[in-house]
Amino acid sequence: MKGPKFCPNCATALILKHTKDRDRLICPAESCGYVHWNNPIPVVAAVVECGDDVVLVRSIGWPAGWYGLVTGFLEQGEDVVEGVKREVKEETGLEPEEVNFIGIYPFFRMNQILICYHVKVPDGEIKIDTSELEGYKRVPITKVRPWRAGTGIALRDWLRTKGIEAEFMEFGKANK
Ligand SMILES: [Zn+2]
Repeated sequence: MKGPKFCPNCATALILKHTKDRDRLICPAESCGYVHWNNPIPVVAAVVECGDDVVLVRSIGWPAGWYGLVTGFLEQGEDVVEGVKREVKEETGLEPEEVNFIGIYPFFRMNQILICYHVKVPDGEIKIDTSELEGYKRVPITKVRPWRAGTGIALRDWLRTKGIEAEFMEFGKANK
């Protein structure tokens, strides 16, 4: 099982134990009782609309040809909408001018909960954050294809609000 090796409270090596209906990493130290619950982490995601296009970004280290929505973690104490606006600003260099909620989606593989928004930015020059991203592309709204997991479902649902019933792209293919 993936997870921490040592207890964050007392540094004892964690062990696997069946607790509350599943195997969990727990601290065996008598006076401690730490349990690694492994709860999903919330992530904000944005379908960034720029002119007639959706902006897809490519994180450093992703497999060739992969692009996705702008995503990021919230800062402690940060409002969710402010968080998604900050991520869009950081990753595209453009100031969000409209934010609309799309929905909340599970992303089991990454143990995340995706809080997804449509974020409209002015049609301008995109300047990506090169500390996190290695590229971007603008794909016409009428041509963008969603993928079958996580943020892809949010993109599909947003396209439906525009009257577009987009087919899912198959694994390994890329948005052109
Ligand atoms: Zn402990």
